[in-house]
Amino acid sequence: MSEWQRQLAAALTDPGDLARRYQLDPEPLRAVVERYPMRISPHYLGLIQGPGDAIWKQCVPDPRELVATDEVLDPLDEERLSPVPRIVHRYPDRVLLLACGECATYCRFCTRKRKVGCPAMAGTAEELAQALSYLENTPAVRDVILSGGDPLLLEDDRLEDLLRRLRSIPHVEMIRLGSRVPVTLPERITDRLCAMLREFHPLYLNTHFNHPRELTPEAAAACRRLADAGLPLGNQTVLLRGVNDTAPTMLELVRGLLKIRVRPYYLHHMDLTSGTGHFRTRIETGLNIVAALRGPVSGLAVPHYVIDAPGGKGKIPLQPEYLLRGGHPALLRTPGGATLEFPNRVE
Ligand SMILES: *Cc1c(COP(=O)(O)O)cnc(C)c1O
Ligand code: SF4
Repeated sequence: MSEWQRQLAAALTDPGDLARRYQLDPEPLRAVVERYPMRISPHYLGLIQGPGDAIWKQCVPDPRELVATDEVLDPLDEERLSPVPRIVHRYPDRVLLLACGECATYCRFCTRKRKVGCPAMAGTAEELAQALSYLENTPAVRDVILSGGDPLLLEDDRLEDLLRRLRSIPHVEMIRLGSRVPVTLPERITDRLCAMLREFHPLYLNTHFNHPRELTPEAAAACRRLADAGLPLGNQTVLLRGVNDTAPTMLELVRGLLKIRVRPYYLHHMDLTSGTGHFRTRIETGLNIVAALRGPVSGLAVPHYVIDAPGGKGKIPLQPEYLLRGGHPALLRTPGGATLEFPNRVE
């Protein structure tokens, strides 16, 4: 067993252990965990400074997850967009391949919490073969995004085999990894893994930092190893009520990301996944945050604020209303709040 596997094996999965550690009543936690599994890696657990803080909220089960609201299990209609098991094909030229059913830490706000970490998500060799043959037979697919779960929880040999099989498909031009292990299990990013990954370029990695306290020296070192192996690194943040829904927190996060060579890519508005309502903010909150970033920080640090439209209709960019009036001249709002006439093209 390698060190990262020992760390993963030592993750907290029993509400009883958590309850003893923090003197909580384990029963309400157990009820949640029966439905949505818990796993907190030692590294991530170590980032908790106290009950209810920004790290705690992301990983500790909350009875509100069981409150029935108007949300749905699969708001993005991923099951309908799945031509074969483990593939989500919504955009013509790119697909998600759900390569692994597990994560190093289960995020309480996960879009796929209906199945991530559950036995049904484990997947079989047969399903993977079907997914690969779908990709082979679908020449429109240029970009394969390995998702899950967390594809970097696959052992090196299995991941290498999967990447090799994807690379052997001529029309697959690029591969992306979507992984939160740089944040939750930085031990996973070994020199051996990076040496393997660099054989499969163009290979991109999008990770998932949500809070400045996740920018630890260990996470920074993991990102450095990946970047040194030539993987362009992006970050997808989920806008979470009570975690990162203020401009100062987000400012610190995006600045910190650029310092560790990770470029902010998306800021996701929470979608309508059942059991996550307590994390949702107003759209205006996100718009105000993005407006507050525009100007004070490098343009490289400003993510696209998007909402994934219900029913599998795709991502919609949400932008502050900079265009106050179209026509000629157009009236724009500057980041400072002044208005500006702009000589719009006359048709
Ligand atoms: C977000 C997403 C992608 C990737 O979209 P990009 O904007 O290219 O990063 C692909 N497929 C699905 C189903 C997605 O939700
Ligand atoms: S790491 Fe990603 S897939 Fe895994 S639980 Fe968190 S949000 Fe969901």
